Amino acid sequence: MAEGKLIVITGPSGVGKGTIVRALLAKHPELCLSISNTTRDPRSGEVEGIDYQFISTEKFKAAIAKDEFLEWAEYAGNYYGTPKSGIQLLLNQGKIVLLEIELIGARAVAEIFPAAKRIFILPPSISELAARLNGRNQDSQAAIDKRLARAKEEILAKDEFEFQVTNQDLNQAIIEVEQIIFSV
Ligand code: 5GP
Repeated sequence: MAEGKLIVITGPSGVGKGTIVRALLAKHPELCLSISNTTRDPRSGEVEGIDYQFISTEKFKAAIAKDEFLEWAEYAGNYYGTPKSGIQLLLNQGKIVLLEIELIGARAVAEIFPAAKRIFILPPSISELAARLNGRNQDSQAAIDKRLARAKEEILAKDEFEFQVTNQDLNQAIIEVEQIIFSV
């Protein structure tokens, strides 16, 4: 069976990566999303095992020591990591596997899986991103400030990515990401 595809979706917090990924999973149930581990507290409405595996910092550090992550990063005061388990198996089964991760993780994955397709999602502007982060009312002001500072750094690295999609119009962005995923 042909090896599957690994798709890395990166972009600043609040840019709409999660919304795009959820729309694609609903439309293409054959796509597989890697569920990350995080030490962040669940936001209201987030479900353990669906949005993330929410674990303690102690457990996260133990998993790093046991080499259980494909990649991991610290982001705005919390740890996030992609569990290795399962990803190679899914690729061997010919599946398309999506990783929704930040920049440092995306760089690490590029080293390990050079054939991975990497897509950077851009906001129409920084002021629009700030408005979205403030408007979603999910994080403290301190967390929003950290995310905006990180967003500016991440956007500077956009040219490292083979594909860039601007999320100006959500439906158009979904179509563009879909075309990239399913192109050869
Ligand atoms: P949030 O707290 O908003 O859910 O996620 C913060 C950032 O961490 C987002 O950019 C998200 O894509 C990224 N992220 C989520 N899971 C992982 C992961 O497993 N590894 C890395 N490196 N970043 C992740």
